[in-house]
Amino acid sequence: MPKNNLLEKITALCKRRGFIFPSSGIYGGIAGIYDYGPLGVALAKNIKDLWWQDMVEKRTDMYGLDGSILMHPRSWEASGHVAGFTDPLVDCGDCQKRFRPDKLEGWKLKKDNQTGQFRVIKTGSLKCPVCGGRLIAKVRQFNVLMETSLGAIEGEKMKAYLKGESCQNIYLDFIDIVNSFSPKLPFGIAQIGKAFRNEITLGKFIFKTREFEQFDIEYFTRPQDSTRFYREWKKIRWDWYRKRLGLKEKNLRWRQHDEDERIFYAKDAWDIDYFYPWGWDELEGVHDRSDYDLTQHAKFSGKKLDIPDQETNQRIVPFIVECSGGVGRTMLAVLLDAYREEEGTNGIRVFLSLDVKIAPYKVAVFPLLANKAELIKKARSVYENLKDHFRVTWDEIGNIGKRYRRQDEAGTPWCVTIDYQSLKDEMVTVRDRDTMAQKRLAVARLADFFKKKLNS
Ligand SMILES: [Zn+2]
Repeated sequence: MPKNNLLEKITALCKRRGFIFPSSGIYGGIAGIYDYGPLGVALAKNIKDLWWQDMVEKRTDMYGLDGSILMHPRSWEASGHVAGFTDPLVDCGDCQKRFRPDKLEGWKLKKDNQTGQFRVIKTGSLKCPVCGGRLIAKVRQFNVLMETSLGAIEGEKMKAYLKGESCQNIYLDFIDIVNSFSPKLPFGIAQIGKAFRNEITLGKFIFKTREFEQFDIEYFTRPQDSTRFYREWKKIRWDWYRKRLGLKEKNLRWRQHDEDERIFYAKDAWDIDYFYPWGWDELEGVHDRSDYDLTQHAKFSGKKLDIPDQETNQRIVPFIVECSGGVGRTMLAVLLDAYREEEGTNGIRVFLSLDVKIAPYKVAVFPLLANKAELIKKARSVYENLKDHFRVTWDEIGNIGKRYRRQDEAGTPWCVTIDYQSLKDEMVTVRDRDTMAQKRLAVARLADFFKKKLNS
């Protein structure tokens, strides 16, 4: 069921209201790269802060990490990304554009879950969908790791990669954290970080981008306990999207990776999918990864990555339960979930019914008129008082109707208007985003009123 151009509407709203812009727009933009504007950075930060509080700070078994984007190139050989992190592609001999063959008519590919590479099962049309020219029949494996080089002297530079997935630092720093904190199994390491992929097929707004941010948990367990904690983390992560972020139940589902799709070392792999405008697609992967990652890095680095099990005193390589989500994908799901259109007396009202916890601004303060000094002065004092408690914005542009429309689209839960009556009775009008209900409240009670709502 297509959702009535919802993705186009969200994309336009994000640009109009300063959530998300195409990167380098004045140069014509660059495919699959976006900048987060003032509201986008606030929304993303609120989502990440909520994740960090819930997954790290409120738990006693989690350690935070902020690893660098540049890592030793050998780590990407150990992880399998240098050999197997590839997309199959065919080139057009005329316009030089590249395509994933399974996006072309009549082609079929199958992923080899030993190597991660794709094999062609059926070849199809060789007509270029862009220029109509002829595609070169040979399928090439195109590595999606982004390369860079380190060092100052040309010719002596070392080839390096931007992180293809953010979590890799966790495996490499695992032993440092064990040495510093002597944690007892099970325990986890969490990180929010950027990753880069030279994707061939883009589109779908911020769903798939070449530069993106991930939140990752690697939870280390005794081998015999991994299934139990895998089940536990599936529930924790589902509840986080459902109850903490408030995504609608009908837009979420579990999907198990089938045998073809699951990488050979994974014991089990499920994704939390979201119902995007183009259908069900991934939001987060929760995977039971066995001891593969630590064993690989031990082999390639020559360092021991086994640790003593405090109960049995035997040395073991822990198993890993991984929860890996995307910040951009989560933000897109949140925006899609919150988007509302309502038929009103002045046409269609658009608003974002964002959970108050993550809304970029909690309250907007308006003087009724922008050119009356006494109204401005009173409104300023209300603004100054509220901004010490939570994120508040000031708006005096255009009439009240236009300001409400702007704040509705920004997802601001409440608007406060200071009028002439306020100067006499110390009362202001508070308007609710979702119901548009208005009531008069005493200035002295405002901060407590909003704080109570934000904490409920
Ligand atoms: Zn072409």
